[in-house]
Amino acid sequence: LESFNMVANHAIRQVAEDAIFGANTQAQKAISEYGFNNVINGTIGVFLDDEGILVTFDSVFNALRELKDESFAAYAPLNGINEYLDTAIKTTFGDYKPDGFIEAVATPGGTGAIRHAVWNYSSWGEEILTSDWYWDPYNTIATEHGRKISTYKLFDEKMNFNFEDFESKVELLLDKQKRLIIIINSPAHNPTGFSLSYDEWLGIIEMLKRKASSNQNKIVLFIDIAYIDFCEDESRRFLSLLSNLPKNILSIVSYSMSKGYTFYGLRSGAIIGVSSNKDVAIEFKNACSHSNRGVWSNGTRCAMEVLTKIYRDESLLEKVEKERNHYKEMLKIRANSFMKASEEVGLEICPYKDGFFISIPSNDPIGLAKELSKEKVFLVPLEMGLRFAVCSVSQEKCKITPRLIKEAMKR
Ligand code: PLP
Repeated sequence: LESFNMVANHAIRQVAEDAIFGANTQAQKAISEYGFNNVINGTIGVFLDDEGILVTFDSVFNALRELKDESFAAYAPLNGINEYLDTAIKTTFGDYKPDGFIEAVATPGGTGAIRHAVWNYSSWGEEILTSDWYWDPYNTIATEHGRKISTYKLFDEKMNFNFEDFESKVELLLDKQKRLIIIINSPAHNPTGFSLSYDEWLGIIEMLKRKASSNQNKIVLFIDIAYIDFCEDESRRFLSLLSNLPKNILSIVSYSMSKGYTFYGLRSGAIIGVSSNKDVAIEFKNACSHSNRGVWSNGTRCAMEVLTKIYRDESLLEKVEKERNHYKEMLKIRANSFMKASEEVGLEICPYKDGFFISIPSNDPIGLAKELSKEKVFLVPLEMGLRFAVCSVSQEKCKITPRLIKEAMKR
């Protein structure tokens, strides 16, 4: 029977249940049946306390509540409040600001930055490169805009960064398209928790420079740092490597207030472009500004004002950092517990360094997730394994989960 579509051809898509949403629904059902303490819900990608309550930073929300009604109600400028953009640049790079022309445009979260990069720096039908373990919305954003995701193997057999496969895919796609967006989610990669080292970044930048020696190639290095505020300051060091790159390499960094300020739903971020060439930087600003007007007009004013308020007031900034550090520490403790327990029971996990998630490779993620749900343990089945959210599970539960996974694997 032929189906009838009212939507235009490009909008006909396969309807699949969102894996994260589906797994979480199951977990919630189990919690209501057996009680919170008897269920391990490792599906939620936001920071929850040990009782499963969403963590919100008091210092940030007090600052938000002090704003006048106008700050909530008024439009923000199309590109975002200037001081907000300066602050976003300052906090993104910290002590490691690269030399070059840096421009920024406010976007609704890092998601908005990804969207603008995809739309403005690739053409219809082209492939965008990211690793085989990747955050699924990259694919949604690509297909929404008539693009495709192509992947390289993130890890080699020894679970080290697979530079070789990365380079070969970069080469392949540049040969084919002459223009390429590469999305790298580091530090604190979602879903694996992997972070590239400074030396690995050095290798990547050197390789991209070699590829850029052919003037025909245009490379956009998109760095997704959604979780960087939960990493050590040192993790920003690689950003200084974006200095003085050839003009046919544009670096884009996505800034987000979602995790670092627990502002997930307030939708505030920025797309930040770094180029050695002034015209490329201005063109970047103009293209993103046009996109803002053409897609969502402008961002959330009160969120932008809160960021500028925090950075104008040293004691408030200290409070925010102190609060965040508390949870950073909690995250580390939870992740270490999970990793130690994995080692003890011989569970292979992806190399976790930082961030909200740990992944477990599996040939049958859906079957394994199903098996685990019988034990009241819920993880998100991805294409290459299961994702466990250390950001939302207590240390106690993090400690027992690896054994339950290992046992479920044996069944
Ligand atoms: N990139 C990754 C890898 C993420 O996990 C997220 C959020 O979950 C984002 C980007 C963007 O989040 P937001 O749009 O809320 O800034």
